[in-house]
Amino acid sequence: MKVEKTEILIIGAGPAGSVAAGLLRKQGREVLILEREQFPRFSIGESLLPQSMEYVEEAGMLRDVVEAGFQYKNGAAFARGDKYTDFDFREKFSPGWGTTYQVQRATFDQVLAGAAARMGATVRFRHEVTSVDTEGAQPEVTVRSPEGETYRVQARFLLDASGFGRVLPRLLKLETPSNFPVRGALFTHVEDRIAPGTFDRNKIRVTVHPEHVHVWYWTIPFANGRCSLGVVAKKEFLEQFQGTETERLRAIVGQDPGLTTLLKDAVWDTPARAITGYAANVKSLWGKGFALLGNAGEFLDPVFSSGVTIAFKSASLASACIRRAFAGESVDWEREYAVPLKAGVDTFRTFVESWYAGGFQDVIFHPNASPEVRRMISAILAGYAWDTNNPYVADSKRRLGVLEKLCAA
Ligand code: FAD
Repeated sequence: MKVEKTEILIIGAGPAGSVAAGLLRKQGREVLILEREQFPRFSIGESLLPQSMEYVEEAGMLRDVVEAGFQYKNGAAFARGDKYTDFDFREKFSPGWGTTYQVQRATFDQVLAGAAARMGATVRFRHEVTSVDTEGAQPEVTVRSPEGETYRVQARFLLDASGFGRVLPRLLKLETPSNFPVRGALFTHVEDRIAPGTFDRNKIRVTVHPEHVHVWYWTIPFANGRCSLGVVAKKEFLEQFQGTETERLRAIVGQDPGLTTLLKDAVWDTPARAITGYAANVKSLWGKGFALLGNAGEFLDPVFSSGVTIAFKSASLASACIRRAFAGESVDWEREYAVPLKAGVDTFRTFVESWYAGGFQDVIFHPNASPEVRRMISAILAGYAWDTNNPYVADSKRRLGVLEKLCAA
């Protein structure tokens, strides 16, 4: 069988893969991306965080994203019963981008993959990686082409950006269970027909279920009068609802009076979809000749829209390590890649756990929050989970615990 050679092989042209490709092309590396699907293709994960813009910019893809005309986003709004609060990400503790976009991922991922190709990466769609060998001097993968033919590619370094495909974790038995309970989501896109002035389209809106603190809905407005709408809950909660995915989603949306009113004129023209058990973890984020990016490594939870930001951050950290490795320096992947990546992921984890326990919800809905504390929380909600100057990053568990107690009292 023919063996092709490349410097960097990337599995998957999602956000992690394409941004990594851009960063590595800027270093002058030869990059090949193998993507299983034909783009454009649907993907979930549509609300970006401002922190992610830094990596789009670093990868040389800012203009591509700006010119795509996505919905502008400047914050997050939260509703629970008659309570409402919102955070403007431009008013935040950490320096950096305060705005970003809400994106249809079919288009967004195509824009990023197109930018990677424009920068000189070879992107092959409908080429699926089916097996991997990391025992030899260089990692080697087996690929199935759209014509059903099989070929092999050997690379000096392999980046697994296969997202929920989790290619290397599966094939190299790196998977470990997530500590989170099994949750799932039902979601669709609707033509929302929300009257202008009644809804801030520049923010994601997270609505907490009127009776269950651990059930929440997202409404993510797009630039074309449509909205992404979804609900997240434990598997057992979702299983109580019968019928098609659309019928189940409609029934759960119908349990929240505020959301029902907001979407009273919506046209439900797209069949809903379901995803369950997406939280995932791995024993190690790297190995000999390879590293795992984005969702191919760890995925926590969708509540703070952190997935794409973490995917970009992983691409940025990994490409910095690759730069040094190709310059002949020795790289400690645990210390220089895994530990710094996990630091921010752990900040999000603290806030996610507190969200589902209800404590963080009490904090954000508290009527008398100090403006400085809100700016620090705004920074984390904007994705600046690696900024250790923020006390809620540096000492997140203890600080948030104290705040929860104050708010509960
Ligand atoms: P992906 O986007 O999954 O891309 C991986 C690519 O690899 C895919 O194109 C796939 O086709 C390809 N691939 C897979 N297997 C193979 C193979 N064998 N060979 C070749 N190619 C392969 N994140 C946010 O930032 N904001 C949100 O609002 C948000 N909402 C979410 C809501 C839900 C319900 C869920 C479950 C997640 C949400 N996320 C959100 C997370 C977000 O979807 C992911 O974190 C993000 O897409 C990860 O990007 P990635 O590049 O790692 O992987």
